[in-house]
Amino acid sequence: MAERPTFGIDLGTTYSCVAHLDEFGKPVALPNSMGEYTTPSVVYFEDSAGVVVGKPAKNELNREPERVVQYIKRHIGEPDFFIDVEGRKYYPAQISSLILSALVDDALVALDIEPPASGPIADVVITVPAYFGGAEREETRKAGELARLNVLSIVNEPTAAAIAYGLLNKGGERTVLVYDLGGGTFDVTIISVSAAEIRAVSTGGDRHLGGADWDAKLVDLFLEKFEEQCPDAPDPRTDTEAAGALVLTAEAAKRDLSARAKYGTSVTAHTSRAKFDITREEYEELTEDLVERTLHNTESVIDAAAAKGVTSIDEVVLVGGMSRTPIIAARLAERLRVRFPGLADPKLSDPDQIVAKGAALFAASKVAESYDGSSGSGVPTREALLGGKVPKIINITSRGYGLRTYRDPKDQEGYISWQIRPNDALPVEHRDTYRTLFPHQTEVDITLYESATDELNETVAVNKELAKAVLSGFPPNQPAGQPLEVTFSLGDESILRVHAVGPTGKDLHVEVKIAGAAPAAELAKPLPRIVK
Ligand code: AMP
Repeated sequence: MAERPTFGIDLGTTYSCVAHLDEFGKPVALPNSMGEYTTPSVVYFEDSAGVVVGKPAKNELNREPERVVQYIKRHIGEPDFFIDVEGRKYYPAQISSLILSALVDDALVALDIEPPASGPIADVVITVPAYFGGAEREETRKAGELARLNVLSIVNEPTAAAIAYGLLNKGGERTVLVYDLGGGTFDVTIISVSAAEIRAVSTGGDRHLGGADWDAKLVDLFLEKFEEQCPDAPDPRTDTEAAGALVLTAEAAKRDLSARAKYGTSVTAHTSRAKFDITREEYEELTEDLVERTLHNTESVIDAAAAKGVTSIDEVVLVGGMSRTPIIAARLAERLRVRFPGLADPKLSDPDQIVAKGAALFAASKVAESYDGSSGSGVPTREALLGGKVPKIINITSRGYGLRTYRDPKDQEGYISWQIRPNDALPVEHRDTYRTLFPHQTEVDITLYESATDELNETVAVNKELAKAVLSGFPPNQPAGQPLEVTFSLGDESILRVHAVGPTGKDLHVEVKIAGAAPAAELAKPLPRIVK
């Protein structure tokens, strides 16, 4: 029987990482073809038939930035978003699938495994930010399937980090705040961790805040310094190559300033050159508002945990490459100690690999659950895997689900009556009674909505319509105010089930598989091959 490996994949906005469990059941990251453990989530369209993924693709920002796609994760699940390359549309799920394919190809080479000619090449768990909604999760799963992966589960990044952290750092029951600042997204989650259970308590974040924003601030600063020194030179952004190089230099400066007090660089655009230093102080001042945004989000998540009765934080774990920035840990500690005075310093915990490692642990436990020990495929048993102690994982929803309701017969616009709220533990079920608005009403329109973010807003227009259905068969000639009972249930797999029962006991079942945004026909088109 062909060996089908099991991987955990952290599909990041800027960098991705693949991990598996070694023969001792220990999670380890796998190197890519360049011997590195993280791979830039960047795709370069070399020509219509071939793409390059990873560091060589990122380097093309210097040469042909218009053929380079980065930060695609920021757009996954977004309606109508695609990238046009020479007249062909590429949807985020397709670009993500190219990244996944390249990651898994390299992982197979590292393990010396030949992929099968057909069928899935690996069993995987892919991680996503906790605040991703149904469409983003579904589209990430689609990306995995397009890359010929058997997607066992889509798991929240902070939950994966907590799995690895909780299992690798033994201790009693404790509440951990995971602050995850990656290249493109920010995610903060409070999790209660024990040997038996990993339970997410509250989560929040900003899908449009990450290292790339720090880079962009530095690019602006470079441009200012360039203009000071070369006032007569044209804008460097009109020099395509210089513009691409500026972004790469900004990232290098940012990384360097995490370790050093000063960074010296030069910018050459058109035929002019400026040379200057940037101090860490200058950089910290420049990006203070971005740090403040993460702290504001963190406080909201702490408030949400407190509303659920979790009022203490025992440990703070920093994940994501950006957490290496010293000022971030310092500001976070300072702010948290206002509420939790004795709190220990935040711990930087294997920030680049911990999410993939947690995903690998979760994937292996999923495979071990269904393994009967007879196939000899080399899958460790559940006992062998984690000393028999696979914790139970309890996730929460980051979105709300509800239906459109009207205040009175004159109310044209209506509002959303939320049934499932962000941070509800999954699976969740909630029932409520609604009433008909008009006399002689024999049917009711039921329109289901998902909240756009982790904050609920009653206004219909700012939320996302998921499905419409009609509950009919109400007895005729009745006054207004006939009751109907509506039950919402949401499991772990992005399927919302709604059950409505009217006064005659006639009922309506609506099942919404929250779909991704890209058209199926487009996703079915063959993709370019990956060129090394
Ligand atoms: P991740 O998505 O978790 O891989 O995080 C990647 C982000 O972390 C990118 O924006 C990197 O530029 C940034 N990063 C990586 N190393 C460092 C460092 N030493 N200091 C500051 N930022 C870093």
